[in-house]
Amino acid sequence: MPTSDEAVKLQHDADAAPSAAEAVRAIDGIAPATGTARRVAEGVWWIRLPVAAGPGHVNVYALQDRDGIMLVDTGTNTPQTLQTLTEALRVLQSSCGTVRRVVVTHHHPDHIGLAGWFAEQGAEIVATPGTLAVARRMLHDKTLLRTPEEIGFAVLAGMKDLELAAFIRRPKRQYADAVAMLPDAINVISDGETLQIGRRCWRAIVGNGHAVDHLTLCSNDGLVISGDQILPGMSTNLNVPTDQPDLDPIAAWRDTCRRIGEHIDDRSICLPGHHTPFTGIAIRSRQMIASHEAVASRLLGHLQRPRTAIDCLAAIYRRTLSLAERAFLFSEAVGYMNHLANRGEIVGLRRGKTIVWQKQRRPRGDTIRRDVSPAISRPNNFSSEVDETR
Ligand SMILES: [Zn+2]
Repeated sequence: MPTSDEAVKLQHDADAAPSAAEAVRAIDGIAPATGTARRVAEGVWWIRLPVAAGPGHVNVYALQDRDGIMLVDTGTNTPQTLQTLTEALRVLQSSCGTVRRVVVTHHHPDHIGLAGWFAEQGAEIVATPGTLAVARRMLHDKTLLRTPEEIGFAVLAGMKDLELAAFIRRPKRQYADAVAMLPDAINVISDGETLQIGRRCWRAIVGNGHAVDHLTLCSNDGLVISGDQILPGMSTNLNVPTDQPDLDPIAAWRDTCRRIGEHIDDRSICLPGHHTPFTGIAIRSRQMIASHEAVASRLLGHLQRPRTAIDCLAAIYRRTLSLAERAFLFSEAVGYMNHLANRGEIVGLRRGKTIVWQKQRRPRGDTIRRDVSPAISRPNNFSSEVDETR
C-alpha cells in the first residue's frame, strides 16, 4: 500500500473481470479471523492485519525458521495492529518459538511499520538497501508542509489554481506516526541473494515501480511472497517519486514481473500483501500488464490533443477523483506519461512551468525524453512560482 493522506481506491481497470476470476484461483478464500493465523503451506501462516486506508487490511506471513519465527512484513505501527498481531502470534509461538527475524518487502507503513518494534524485542531485521534508505529518510523528515521540490513536481504535472493551493495547504502525514524507528544494525538483502528460512531457500527479486527496491521472495518449492508487486483483484500503484521524476515505473514493474516469472510454474502459490493467496501467478501478471496496456491505449486516444499528466487522470481512472485522491494519484499519471514517452508514442513539450503531452506524430525512435528531461530533472526551477503561490 502507498502512503496516501486519505483512503484511496487504486483500481484503474477491470482487473476483477470474470475471466480473471476463472483463471486465478484463490487457494483458500477464507481470510484468517482477526487475531488468528491460518496455515497456507507447511511452516507458513497467513495473518491479516487492519489498515485504515486502501483495501482496509494487509497480509503478513509467519514462517517457521530454525530457531523461531521469521515474519514477512509487519503491519502499521498502531496499538490495534500490534494487539492483533500479538494475538495471532501467541498460539504459533507456543509451537514455533518467538519472532527472531523480520524481513520487509518495502518501505510503505503497512509493511514496515512494526519492524522497529520487533527489533526492540531483539529480532533481527532484513531489508533491501533502497527500502532502508527511503524508510530512514522518511522517518527523519519532519517537514509539515510540501517542499518546493514537491510543489514544483506537481506544477510540472499540470496542477494549478485552487487545486494547487489545496495541495500546498494540506499538511503532510508524518511517516514516523505510522512507522516505528528502525535500529542502526539491519541486514541488507540484495537482488539475487538467497535467504534460508527453515528448510526453504528463498531467492530475493528486488525491483522498482511500486516502491524503491521492493522485495519479492521466491522459494525453492513454489511459494512467492509478492508484497505489493503482484496482487489479486486490484492493480498495483505504480508511481513516480518526486526525486526521480524521469522514472518509468511501468517498465520497471514489468521487468520485475518478468524476473519473477523465471522462478515460478503453474503450481506456484502467490502470498500477496493484500487480498487472498492464489495460484496462477503468470496469468495474474499478464492480466495486470494487460490492464496497464488498456490504460496506455486509452491515453493515446486522449492525447490526440495536448494535455498535462493531471488532465489525464480521468482517462486513467474513469471516475471523478477527490482532491485528496488526485493529490496522491497524479504521480501515477506522470508514470504513464514517462512510459509512453519512453516508448516513443507521445511527445512532451514545455509550456511555461508545465509539460504538455501529445501523441507522437513523428516517426518512432525520435523520442522526446531529450526534449523535456532537463526540465523534469530540475523541479527546483519552479521555486519562484512556489513562493508566489504560498
Ligand atoms: Zn505498498
